[in-house]
Amino acid sequence: MSDDLLDGFVQAIPMPALMVDQTERIIAANTDAKTLLGQNIVGRHFATILRQPQVLEAIEQSLQSKGTKAARHLSNDGAQDTTFDVQCRYMNGVGAVSGGAVLTTFQDVTHLEQASQMRRDFVANVSHELRTPLTALMGFIETLRGPARNDPAARDRFLQIMADEANRMNRLVGDLLSLNRVESEERVRPNQQLELTGLLQSTMNSLRPLAEEAGVTLTLGALDGPLSVTGDSDQLRQVFTNLIENGIKYGASGGSVTVSVLSSERDAAMRGPGVRVKVIDKGPGIDSVHLPRLTERFYRADNHRSRQLGGTGLGLAIVKHIVNRHRGRLRVESELGKGSVFTVILPR
Ligand code: ADP
Repeated sequence: MSDDLLDGFVQAIPMPALMVDQTERIIAANTDAKTLLGQNIVGRHFATILRQPQVLEAIEQSLQSKGTKAARHLSNDGAQDTTFDVQCRYMNGVGAVSGGAVLTTFQDVTHLEQASQMRRDFVANVSHELRTPLTALMGFIETLRGPARNDPAARDRFLQIMADEANRMNRLVGDLLSLNRVESEERVRPNQQLELTGLLQSTMNSLRPLAEEAGVTLTLGALDGPLSVTGDSDQLRQVFTNLIENGIKYGASGGSVTVSVLSSERDAAMRGPGVRVKVIDKGPGIDSVHLPRLTERFYRADNHRSRQLGGTGLGLAIVKHIVNRHRGRLRVESELGKGSVFTVILPR
């Protein structure tokens, strides 16, 4: 292969690519490879350019065995880490000396690495969240079999705690299944016609006993009359249940949770007709450092309080995915000591 042909061939590869021949020098490199490794790499010994032992070894072995080798290359541009899958393939009949050369390509697999890291973190979090109530249950079973066997008062108390822990596990499994269902449907836009004001009123009615127990007044504020929107009524009910329940649970000290609805023909966020549902509480509010991460799975602004109140840490993650499925937006505004406003914006 002539030098021009070789350059043209390497240049056509849609990722960083270079060739190392039997003299162990780089004989060709495309623009992407030069951006990644340096502009003047052609003609240099490959070990002076690629310093990572795994990659050097893969190229050396491929040159020697005239076969295929793979490695990982990690780079950092000061701002972020990038992971490359490096593939070495031997080509006969190219290079300065007889034999051939190794074509080395660098495929960016950072997004795959990040996805698998997220999956590992998620599994670790779920296991931890399930293990905590499970450990409590196992401990109380032991106690009921042993020291508390003949103590009816202790038995009743422990059975109540066991029921609470079992409920916590049940809620967690329920939320995980909801999240899974919502995520798998996220690309399919819901197409049911529903009336939003009625749905909000009935959601609030079902939460009134919880509000009364917490000493919170639940009010429906500004209202626009019957509002028809396209959506999934079960999922929207879940969105408003989660937000109002959070308002009652975390904002109880503020004494009230207000829900308001406002529709407009030109909602700035929807770039067209939209409706905004606000869930407002006057509780302790949320520190601004937490706001960007609040909808992540298992993220809690106040770990202790969430667990004390039986939270799963998944409520807002479910809300975010349902709102995304409806092509809507979720906005959170909060100020410490003043309360929080969660706004769901839906297209109409
Ligand atoms: P949880 O099951 O812990 O309630 P969520 O995903 O519903 O999980 O909420 C995440 C975290 O956001 C909560 O743990 C809590 O710290 C915070 N949070 C949510 N809503 C409010 C609110 N209205 N006021 C204060 N903090 C809130």
